[in-house]
Amino acid sequence: MNLLLPENLSDACELLATHEGAIPIAGGTDLFVHWPQRPDDSGQTYLDLSGIPELRAHGWSEGELRLGALTTYWDIIQDSQVQAALPLLVRAARQIGAIQIQTRGTWAGNVVNASPAADGVAVLMAYDAVVILRSREGTEECPLSDFYLGYKSMRRKSDQLLTGIRIPVRSYDLQLFEKVGSRTAQAISKVGVAVTRRGDDWRIVANSVAPTVCRCPALESFLASGRSVGEPADLAEALRSDIAPIDDLRSTARYRETVLSRLLYFGLKDACIQFS
Ligand SMILES: Cc1cc2nc3c(=O)[nH]c(=O)nc-3n(C[C@H](O)[C@H](O)[C@H](O)COP(=O)(O)OP(=O)(O)OC[C@H]3O[C@@H](n4cnc5c(N)ncnc54)[C@H](O)[C@@H]3O)c2cc1C
Repeated sequence: MNLLLPENLSDACELLATHEGAIPIAGGTDLFVHWPQRPDDSGQTYLDLSGIPELRAHGWSEGELRLGALTTYWDIIQDSQVQAALPLLVRAARQIGAIQIQTRGTWAGNVVNASPAADGVAVLMAYDAVVILRSREGTEECPLSDFYLGYKSMRRKSDQLLTGIRIPVRSYDLQLFEKVGSRTAQAISKVGVAVTRRGDDWRIVANSVAPTVCRCPALESFLASGRSVGEPADLAEALRSDIAPIDDLRSTARYRETVLSRLLYFGLKDACIQFS
C-alpha cells in the first residue's frame, strides 16, 4: 500500500493528477470498513487529506456557510451558530453513527461515498448545497442536487478533490429531518427524509428509497399545489414517480414507501401544515 501525505491543497491536487487511481482519505469511516485484510498486498495508493489544515475550517461568508473537506459532524454539532441558522445539519449530524463516527466522519466523505442512505447528503440537498471540486486544472462547482448520476456514480472526475461545500443561509417556514433505522444511534437509515419550505417552494429529499439520495419533485409540486391530503396514502401516491425503493438486508421496498409517506404526513402535521 502506498500512502501520500500532502501538506497543502495544491500538492494534494498535483499528487492526485500524477498518481492515477489514488483514493483520497478524509476520516476513513467509510473506507476502513472495506480496508484490505492485508494492506501490504493491495498495491493501492491512498491520498491522506488529514495533514492539510486549510481543508478543516468551516465558516461564514456572504450569506452562506462553507464546510471544508475535513469538517466533521462534531465540528457542526458544537457550533451554536449552525444550530441557529441551519438546524437540520445539527439534527442529522447527531444521528450519524455515534460519537466516534461523528468526530472522524466528514460531510465531504458522506457526499463522495455516495450512499443512497447518506444522512448528511439529505439535509445538505434540502438546503440547496453546492459542492466545490478542485483539480490541478482548476475549480468548478456543482449543485448537490445535480451531482449524482446513478448508484455510486457522480460528477466528480478521478483527479478532483471535493474541497468544500457551500450552503446558502435563508429563512425557512419549515425544516424537518426524520430518520428511521434499527435503533436511535449507530444505525444506517432504512428510510429518511429532509424537508425545507419557503412559501410554496418545497425541497423534499429522501434517502434509502432510490439508487441515490434524491429530491422528490413530483411530491414538491403536489404540496405546492395545495391539493387535498386526507391520509399518508395520498402522499405515497404523489411520491410514487419520485422513488424506486428496493428490498435489501435492511428493509423492504413496501416498508420504505409506507414509512416515508407516514414520516412526511405526521411530520408535516406536527409542523402545523394544514392538510385539507
Ligand atoms: C459504524 C458506522 C456508522 C455509520 N453511520 C452512518 C449514519 O448513520 N449515516 C450516514 O450517513 N453515514 C454513516 N456512516 C458512514 C460514514 O461515517 C459517513 O459516510 C462519513 O461521512 C464518511 O466520511 P469520512 O470522512 O470518514 O469518509 P472516508 O471514509 O474518508 O471517504 C469516503 C469516500 O469519500 C472519498 N473522499 C473523502 N473525502 C474526499 C474529498 N475531499 N474529495 C474527494 N473524495 C473524497 C473517499 O475516497 C471515499 O471514497 C457510518 C459508518 C460507520 C463505520
